[in-house]
Order: sequence, then C-alpha cells, then structure tokens
Amino acid sequence: MDINRRNFFKIAGAAAASTIAVSEKPAHAAEPPAINADAYGCLIDTTLCVGCRKCEEACNERHSLAKPEQSFEELSVLENERRPDEHSYTVVNKYYPHSIGALTWRKRPTFVKFQCMHCNDPSCVSACIVGALVKQPDGAVTYDVSKCIGCRYCMVACPFQIPAYEYHNALTPEVRKCTFCFNYVKNGQLPACVQVCPREAITFGKQLELLKLARWKMKRHPGKYVDHIYGEYEVGGTSWLYLGSEPFEKIGFPKLGVKAPPRLTETIQHSLFQYFAAPIILYTTLGGIMWGTGMLKEKDAKKENKTD
Ligand code: SF4
Ligand code: SF4
Ligand code: SF4
Repeated sequence: MDINRRNFFKIAGAAAASTIAVSEKPAHAAEPPAINADAYGCLIDTTLCVGCRKCEEACNERHSLAKPEQSFEELSVLENERRPDEHSYTVVNKYYPHSIGALTWRKRPTFVKFQCMHCNDPSCVSACIVGALVKQPDGAVTYDVSKCIGCRYCMVACPFQIPAYEYHNALTPEVRKCTFCFNYVKNGQLPACVQVCPREAITFGKQLELLKLARWKMKRHPGKYVDHIYGEYEVGGTSWLYLGSEPFEKIGFPKLGVKAPPRLTETIQHSLFQYFAAPIILYTTLGGIMWGTGMLKEKDAKKENKTD
C-alpha cells in the first residue's frame, strides 16, 4: 500500500481509536496535577528586550554547551528565526513590525527569548513512559538521563517543540532543553539568563506574583501591551510568562488552547499499554497527533494571512 502522509495519519488515528475503543476507562488515567502556588517562574517583558543575546551566552556558559560557530556578539543571526536545540537551550528571535495594508503596526522590531516554558501540566512529562522528565514542585521540568531510554516521545508531545536530541552523539545521546537552572535556583541563585540580562527584561519570582506584576504593568501602561499574558492559560498555564506589544502569534508563539495536551496523550498511552500494544504504535500515534497539530497550525496561519 502506498503510505503517503495522509494515509499515515489515517492509520495512526485508526490505531489509536481502535485501541482506545476496547478500553472503557484508561488504566491509570490521572487527574491533572494541582498547580503549586509557590512554584517559581519568569516573566519576560518583550518590550524591554533589545536582542543583545547576553542571555544566550550566559546560558551556554553555565551549562558548558558547545560554542556556536559565530560569536554571541554577532547579531546578524537574529535575522533568521531559530529554535532552541541541543547546543542552545535558549534563543532570541527578531520579529519585524507587522503591516496592515499601508499602515505599519509599530516601528521597532520585537525581540523574543524562547526556551522551555516549564508547563504547569507538561506534555513531555506525561509522554515519558519511564519518568525521566519530572515537574518539580518549584516549577522546573527536569530531566534525568539515567532513566531516559531515548524513545523521544517527549519531543513529539511538546506543543512548543522544545526538547532536542543529541543525534550526533552515538554512544550517550541525551535529550536537551532549558533546565530552569534548577540546581542553582534550589540553592537560592538566579537562572543565568535572568542574572545577566542588562535590560531586566526577565523577572524571576513566584508564578502568582509574576501574574500580578504582569497585570500591574498592563494597567499602569495602557496601550503599551496587548491584553494577553502568554502562558497564563495556554496548555493549562506555563511557568514562563510573556508580555508583548504585538499579538503573540505575530511574534513566534503558537496559538494553543487552554487545555493541557497531557490529558490526551496520557489517555492514549495508558490505553495502549494496558493492552500491551507495541510502543511503536504509540510513537506512530503521537507522531500523527503532532503532524495533525502541525496541519492545524499551518491552516490557522494561512487563515490569518488571508485576513491580514
Ligand atoms: S515546553 Fe515542552 S519541554 Fe518544556 S515543559 Fe512544556 S512540554 Fe515539556
Ligand atoms: S533558565 Fe537557565 S537553562 Fe533556562 S534559558 Fe535561562 S540560563 Fe538557560
Ligand atoms: S539578555 Fe535580556 S535584553 Fe538581551 S536578548 Fe536576552 S532577554 Fe533580551
């Protein structure tokens, strides 16, 4: 049979549906985890960021990551949209003003620092069948390489496409992503990126306090920010929150629902494993979900371009 992308998705969907159908109730379907009000987070005010890349450099040094080919002083790299990868736990992107017909939305470009969002109800944690990824009570989503079996379900499940894999490392490959500088924070230190930012664009603190700060800023500076704190509700809330003066979908953020994807992946996963389905089916299924999500995002983007 000719297996093109359309067939692949149909097969994946059918595999998931038939396996779920035999299970009235998932074996260990978990309730969404309670959000710890004391958890830490970061609020990034994108209107303050100047794209200096000091945060990228500080992160690279603290975690002894491979040095990039071009130095961190080289700002031309901002011209191309980048994603965090195994050598860069965080990247800063530059978004030019958005035009509406002859009108330019705003004059100055927006710089946005991206990294793992440390979701309140993380899909990566839910997808990991061996517990190598854990949501810590203090907010960080941490990774334990000694438990990881390299299945990369976490990469498939993440709605922000954050976890990276060391494909180049044949012997001891690891999943790599922002650690929220967990080992430093638990000893009372700041994340390296927060500490170094010359514009104080990143505020570290308790998530609830950060939300209050974000609302205070919006009230104090009417018209400066769009009426949206990114991460307050997206995918059940994230520890990293953003303020911006552009609609977030114009500055690199995916448009996501308020429901955490873990509930979906977990139900499928528990149903499959209850009936000893091969992990390859799960991988295929999750791949199908991701591909489908990509299609929806593409569709959304096309729709938006049409309405611009
Ligand atoms: S952004 Fe992705 S990798 Fe980070 S916690 Fe959320 S699901 Fe996990
Ligand atoms: S919190 Fe730590 S690991 Fe994450 S981007 Fe900042 S410096 Fe890097
Ligand atoms: S260090 Fe601060 S101002 Fe510089 S790019 Fe990073 S977040 Fe922006």
